Amino acid sequence: MSDENHLIRYSVITEKNPREIVLLRGNGCKWRRCKFCDYHLDFNLNPQLNYELNAKVLEYVTGRFKHLEVINSGSFSDLDQNTMNLIKEICVKKEITHLYFECHWNDRHYIQGAKKELNDLGITLKIKGGVETFDMKYRESVFCKGIDTESPEEMAKYYDQVCLLFGVTGQTQLSMENDLETGLKYFNRVCVNIMVNNSTQIKPDKQVISIFTDKIYPKYKKNSRVDILLNNTDFGVGGKNE
Ligand code: SF4
Repeated sequence: MSDENHLIRYSVITEKNPREIVLLRGNGCKWRRCKFCDYHLDFNLNPQLNYELNAKVLEYVTGRFKHLEVINSGSFSDLDQNTMNLIKEICVKKEITHLYFECHWNDRHYIQGAKKELNDLGITLKIKGGVETFDMKYRESVFCKGIDTESPEEMAKYYDQVCLLFGVTGQTQLSMENDLETGLKYFNRVCVNIMVNNSTQIKPDKQVISIFTDKIYPKYKKNSRVDILLNNTDFGVGGKNE
């Protein structure tokens, strides 16, 4: 299912943690400064238009795996209230037991309330945070991610899962393995995204990507707690359906 911009917004992930996944639209990431990201351009300030689009996307959800991942550019707190209500209604109706949302560090104070609300409905909410790397100096100087702690323990108070971004100049086999191992130590799941060409200044570094594909990917590809997106549309959403 795609929208007026031809973005594919519904897909199914059958490997590892099988789940349905939807790419919804909110009023936009409030951080918007990550230097590698042009994903935050998918937003609209009109909540009614967002709701209408999101409702159409959510119609595709069947509940077949009982797990639903909802992503949008930014944090789940950027979604309008009607969309949030509809997500809850669909989860209850389709007997979805696990819901996954994304959240920027600055919006972490919304997590506890959302987990409680969903828990009261019998739904376990898991939060995915884009950490990109645990090397704070690199993360904030190169990526400008906006996470003001270097402590994975502190991050794990809010995040159940983390996303890492590999394939950028300056990263090494050691740095990427450290990030993966830290992610696996403190969080339930790790999602590795490999940098792809987009409209930003950060470009994929072919040499770093080769190190990842030759030396690291074979070690982790079968790990059921690690998702690896060699292309950022590998989950089936976000690509263009022309
Ligand atoms: S927080 Fe997410 S959506 Fe916002 S700029 Fe960073 S990567 Fe993009």
